[in-house]
Amino acid sequence: MTDDTLAYEVTFRRRQRNIILRVQGDGSLTVSAPHGTPQARIDEFVASKQRWISRRRAAAADLPPRVERDSAEFRAGQSAMRGDLATLMPLWCERMGVATQPRVTIKVMSTRWGSCNARLHKINLNVELARRGTDALEYVLVHELAHLFHQNHGPGFYALMDEMLPDWRARRKALRALQ
Ligand SMILES: [Zn+2]
Repeated sequence: MTDDTLAYEVTFRRRQRNIILRVQGDGSLTVSAPHGTPQARIDEFVASKQRWISRRRAAAADLPPRVERDSAEFRAGQSAMRGDLATLMPLWCERMGVATQPRVTIKVMSTRWGSCNARLHKINLNVELARRGTDALEYVLVHELAHLFHQNHGPGFYALMDEMLPDWRARRKALRALQ
């Protein structure tokens, strides 16, 4: 997967008979599956739930009322974020060993704070981050940059997050609390 919209974090449980999929408050996916379930089976299950996932993400009301596209607020948010990214992007690309800075689009996103297309070397960021402060923007940026190396939310992804931004969990919690 080059896009992380269907990426999930999986936990295997010995005493479980079915695959259980959950949409978390931030729109991320967690799966618990019986011990030994093949990865392909889980991928297939998650893919089959795509429409349900979209509905749950939308219903999670995980994001506040949206900034109107092309409004003055939208442009102000974009420009504030561009300002922060002028510092954050080169800093984090260097720390993480990303040779070429990815192209960033700041836009209205209804269900996610950001997304990454590793194949196109492109990151989307939600303009709502402009109201969440630099720590939140930095957390989402590092998360999406980490997807250039790991196109899922597997152990490798979290190990990289822990290494790069040890307080990322606290930042994610703060971001959720602000909603
Ligand atoms: Zn992700």
